[in-house]
Amino acid sequence: MIEVSHLTKKYGGHLAVDDVSFTVEDGQIYGLLGPNGAGKSTLIRAILGQREYEGKITFHEASGKEAKLRIGYVPQSPFLLNASIAENVAFSHWGTTLDRERVRQCCRMAAMDFVDELEQNIDTVIGERGVRLSGGQVQRVAIARALYNDPQFILFDEATSALDGAAEQAIQHTINSLREHMTLVVVAHRLSTVEACDYVYWVDKGMVRMEGNPKQVLPAYADFLAVQNTATPQEKSEN
Ligand code: ADP
Ligand code: MG
Repeated sequence: MIEVSHLTKKYGGHLAVDDVSFTVEDGQIYGLLGPNGAGKSTLIRAILGQREYEGKITFHEASGKEAKLRIGYVPQSPFLLNASIAENVAFSHWGTTLDRERVRQCCRMAAMDFVDELEQNIDTVIGERGVRLSGGQVQRVAIARALYNDPQFILFDEATSALDGAAEQAIQHTINSLREHMTLVVVAHRLSTVEACDYVYWVDKGMVRMEGNPKQVLPAYADFLAVQNTATPQEKSEN
C-alpha cells in the first residue's frame, strides 16, 4: 500500500501539488488523470523519491510491516541504451551477470513477441546502431525493464501518450494483464488510458478534484475537457 498524505510541492513560488492525500491499495490498478501541468508527474516523482516535498509518503506490505520497497517506473520516453535487448531489460542490474531466464520471463510478461522474429533474439542490439524499434516496442522494453526488479508497484507516467490508438490499446492490454501480479498506477491525460482502472484520481491544478470509479469520474472529466476545448483562447490562457 502507498499512502500519500498532505503532500505539497512548490517549485520556486509555484505550487505544483497542493496538500494532496491519496491511497493506493495492493492488487489494484489506479488511474491518475488530469490535464498537462496538473501535477501528476510531480506526484509520481515524489513517490519514486526523486523530489523533495512537504507531507508524508508511507509504504506498507500487505502484512503491515515496513518493507524494502521495489517500485518500477515506466516513463513516456524511456532511455534505451545502444546495447542488446537483454542488457536494456536488465539495466537496473548493470555490471552484474545477466539472468537470461529472468530477462526472457520479463519479455514474455511485457508481450515482446517481436523479439522472437529477431535473428539474435534477446541478444539483438537496439538503439542508434542496432535495430530500430517502434514506439510501442520501446514501451514494451521499458515495461520488461521495470519487471526485471520484481516490483511490488509499477508507476506508468504517460507511458502510452505518444503512441497511436492501436499501439496504445495493445500496450494497455499488456498493462492490464500485469494487475494479477502487482499494484499499478497509470498516469494519463487521456480518458481511454484509465478506463480499465479500478479507481481513478482526477488531479487538476495540484489538487484531487474528484475520485472514484472510472464510470463516475470519466464522464465528469470528459465534460471538463469539452468546456476547456470550447473556451476562447483568452479564457484558455487564464486556466
Ligand atoms: P503533469 O505531469 O500533470 O503535466 P507536472 O507535475 O509535470 O504536471 O507539473 C506541475 C506543475 O509544476 C507545472 O506547472 C509545471 O510547469 C511545474 N513543474 C514541473 N516540474 C518542474 C520543475 N522541475 N521545475 C519547475 N517547475 C516544474
Ligand atoms: Mg507529466
